[in-house]
Amino acid sequence: MTLFTEEHDLFRKTLRDFVEREINPHAEEWEQAGTFPAHELFAKLGDLGVLGLTYDPAYGGGGSDYGYVAIMAEEFGRMPCLGVAMAIGVQTDMATPSLHRFGSHELKQKYLAPAIRGEHVAAVGVTEPDAGSDVAGIRTKGVRDGDEWVINGSKTFITSGTQADWVCLLVRTSEEGGSRGISQIIVPTDTPGFQVSGKLDKLGMRSSDTAVLTFDDMRVPVSNTIGEIGRGFQQQMSQFQDERMIAAYQMVGAMEYALERTADYLKQRIAFGQPLMANQHLAYELADLASEVDLLKYYNYHAAAAQTRGDDITRFATVAKLRSARLARRVADVCLQFHGGVGYIGETWTARFFRDTRLWSIGGGADEIMLRTLARMGGFWAE
Ligand SMILES: Cc1cc2nc3c(=O)[nH]c(=O)nc-3n(C[C@H](O)[C@H](O)[C@H](O)COP(=O)(O)OP(=O)(O)OC[C@H]3O[C@@H](n4cnc5c(N)ncnc54)[C@H](O)[C@@H]3O)c2cc1C
Repeated sequence: MTLFTEEHDLFRKTLRDFVEREINPHAEEWEQAGTFPAHELFAKLGDLGVLGLTYDPAYGGGGSDYGYVAIMAEEFGRMPCLGVAMAIGVQTDMATPSLHRFGSHELKQKYLAPAIRGEHVAAVGVTEPDAGSDVAGIRTKGVRDGDEWVINGSKTFITSGTQADWVCLLVRTSEEGGSRGISQIIVPTDTPGFQVSGKLDKLGMRSSDTAVLTFDDMRVPVSNTIGEIGRGFQQQMSQFQDERMIAAYQMVGAMEYALERTADYLKQRIAFGQPLMANQHLAYELADLASEVDLLKYYNYHAAAAQTRGDDITRFATVAKLRSARLARRVADVCLQFHGGVGYIGETWTARFFRDTRLWSIGGGADEIMLRTLARMGGFWAE
């Protein structure tokens, strides 16, 4: 079975060149700044046609298969500043899938098309100070007043929150409770009552900005609701599958990159009169990890094929996210260890990689939430 055509390979090369030219020279500066110029970079990505690869061409999307998404994310996973890769992932596969899948034509014209062109920066607002893993516990509330929602509440840990033009916001819109009566609403950030109330300092992913948002009697048209009123929880669960896959694709690229860089270092670093790589223990350890990355990579490609067919990918996305996040922590630890002291020093790539990769076991559903889903799906669950 041929997974990729010559066109896919060419696409990979284009992206690798793009990262080399447009991202790598700025990585240090963006890490130091705790942010990157999303509008500037996304406009370039929009020109490249990668911000809506699988989306409907009617809105500027590429209408492509998910193999292209896997390639894009693997290549962006090779960035030395993974926060930027994460923010791109938010734009393409975390804040926009529901809008594409369930949004009205008008809503897609107004918000999806500019996001695909890279003119709008998008964010996804699910997590709240009192509700993260337990999404059904959200309290941000929308009360209907004629043709408008009046929204009050707050969201935290929102990637690109200080720069976003709109947020795909999860809001409780009825008193039903639990996962019922929740809606996804597009909220433009220039709406009165919207406030970025804080920018958070983080262990890693420092090139991406993370914000606390508050909403104070913020009025948004009811027509900004994505899909059906009251079905937001279910729609967000579907959007999470895209989020987990884009993270899994990125992690494979990131791990391959880290293992390659570590191998290069071990070949040139001399100790005991020979390159460090001449120590079989080091070589075998890297080979062992690379074999595990391979398994995930090809698992991901099957997931991409299933995504392209339109199958339910919940199990693929859950397994891929869990296993890659756990493996990435081991890869980061080994790469740092094999660099010795220099690997631990401030802004060396190994130290940053160690800090950046740690997020993957928490964001987008913690490892334990992946296990919870798998336990329920596999019948390992007391009803
Ligand atoms: C840098 C960063 C960027 C983020 N970006 C976004 C974003 O753009 N948009 C957004 O909405 N959110 C975002 N998040 C939030 C992220 O998705 C949540 O942090 C994550 O879902 C975990 O929620 P929590 O932090 O509230 O942890 P909690 O729900 O308080 O859980 C704490 C820990 O308890 C354990 N746990 C929780 N529930 C269970 C259970 N049922 N069984 C066993 N163990 C359990 C897990 O180990 C979990 O890590 C981001 C977070 C970070 C740190």
